Amino acid sequence: MQMVCSESSLFSCGRLCGNILACGNHRCQKTCHDVAIPRNAGYEAKLPGNMDKIDSCEKCTLTCQKIRTPPCPHPCMQQCHVGTCSPCSAPLKRSCHCGTLSHSFPCSSFNNFIQEERDKRLSCGGPCHRKLPNCSHLCSEICHPGPCKMATNCQKKVSVWCKCERLKKEWFCSDVQVAFSSLKLQNLRGPKGVGLLSCDKECLKLIEEQRIKEDTERIRQRASIVSEEPPKKVGRRKRHYGSHAMTEKSRFKEITQSIMKWCMVVLLVLLALSILYYGVQGLYSLSDWMNERESKRPRKKPSANFIMH
Ligand SMILES: [Zn+2]
Ligand SMILES: [Zn+2]
Ligand SMILES: [Zn+2]
Ligand SMILES: [Zn+2]
Ligand SMILES: [Zn+2]
Ligand SMILES: [Zn+2]
Ligand SMILES: [Zn+2]
Ligand SMILES: [Zn+2]
Repeated sequence: MQMVCSESSLFSCGRLCGNILACGNHRCQKTCHDVAIPRNAGYEAKLPGNMDKIDSCEKCTLTCQKIRTPPCPHPCMQQCHVGTCSPCSAPLKRSCHCGTLSHSFPCSSFNNFIQEERDKRLSCGGPCHRKLPNCSHLCSEICHPGPCKMATNCQKKVSVWCKCERLKKEWFCSDVQVAFSSLKLQNLRGPKGVGLLSCDKECLKLIEEQRIKEDTERIRQRASIVSEEPPKKVGRRKRHYGSHAMTEKSRFKEITQSIMKWCMVVLLVLLALSILYYGVQGLYSLSDWMNERESKRPRKKPSANFIMH
């Protein structure tokens, strides 16, 4: 069909429109149509306002598919839009450096902090209190990022002893750690710090005395074992005899005591009887004597009467 130029008007070519949509991110998928607002690839989208009323192209119905700057795992929940996404307000939970407290930050602000600011904000402000790797103490620094500096500089006081545990001193824990590692003393009673001080003359004297005492004791024990025959069951037999002898001895003592007691009783009874006997005898002889005197008296009486006359 031939068409003269004066009669020509707009017509559809049947292909896709492809005009940039108001969102600035997608292209129109309609079949070639009359485009009210043409937008090119470098289209700097402004906020649409009521432009969509006269816009003959599609209206984008997708949700935002942009990647945030700085990136975060939370998707933008807005409708597909022009320009950058609004700052992410999803709450971010982060525990402090020492793990005591949990902080909550808006995602975007946390991600925008520089490292220094982030470390400062994450500190709970309390003592770190993490167990130090080289000793049993807790870090006393204020909640801090990274490993504890006190690990090699623990200022806690620790007791240290000489080998015989007579001498005692207080050292900084860090000094004890250094001493242990340099002297390779781990095999000694480690964390207690025994053996870190050297024994003095007095210690050596006491150790020597103790050694001599133990030696003599050992020799004495050996001698007593040799004298016991047979060597087996020594303890039991010895104890058995011992206990038997003990009971014999105590029984003998008991019998002697009871005999003594009875002897005393008999003696007392005899004494009482003899007192009674001689008392009665005495009384009789006294009355005899009295009677005798009485019988002599009448011979004197007349003379007395004579005197009275
Ligand atoms: Zn879009
Ligand atoms: Zn077309
Ligand atoms: Zn279109
Ligand atoms: Zn986010
Ligand atoms: Zn967005
Ligand atoms: Zn903390
Ligand atoms: Zn320590
Ligand atoms: Zn610490």
